[in-house]
Amino acid sequence: MPAIGNVNLVLFGAPGSGKGTQSAFLIERYGIPQISTGDILRAQRQAGTPLADRVQGYMDRGELVPDEVMIEIVRERLRQPDTAGGFILDGFPRTVPQAEALDRMLADLGKRIEKVIYLQVGREALIDRLVHRGRLFDRPDDDPTVAARRIDVFLSDTAPLIDYYGSQHKLEKVDGQLSIEQVRDDILRRLNSLNGQGRRRP
Ligand code: AMP
Repeated sequence: MPAIGNVNLVLFGAPGSGKGTQSAFLIERYGIPQISTGDILRAQRQAGTPLADRVQGYMDRGELVPDEVMIEIVRERLRQPDTAGGFILDGFPRTVPQAEALDRMLADLGKRIEKVIYLQVGREALIDRLVHRGRLFDRPDDDPTVAARRIDVFLSDTAPLIDYYGSQHKLEKVDGQLSIEQVRDDILRRLNSLNGQGRRRP
């Protein structure tokens, strides 16, 4: 397995930009876990937990679950020992307050986000992909109206993270409209620059 040090990554992009697909490559390549907040919420709903009642309305409308709920979920997940060697966050943070809370909670753990991969895909292509995915996987929030809402929420609430991480010099913009393999190779090239760097202590 390539030496990448303990790398903590954020994979960031609109719904349908390919975050899940690309995370799968990174998990395999670097042996670090993916933390998908969407998957965590769907598992809660599947299990019918009390949290599921609080989040289902937001999810079904394509809106964001409140920051404080999401921050607690991620705080809990980052305490698990499998994240010690690094992790890939997929679907979190989605707002500037979430990003600020993440920076604070990682600092408390003596860690930091090393790089943020931004998968850029145009609005039309996103809607096409989401509607196609909805038909394949039966995700109710992938129907065209809800999908369009999720993309608008990305543009209004999540896109400000481009500046947030840009000003921290962590942002790597990747063209997410290339083929899956081209996107994968581009991400791996950009992560190669982390090789041998090891973990920098704050
Ligand atoms: P995803 O699978 O990442 O597209 O997430 C599915 C849905 O879960 C989103 O449309 C939101 O309703 C909710 N969700 C997932 N992650 C977050 C987050 N970081 N902040 C707020 N809501 C989230």
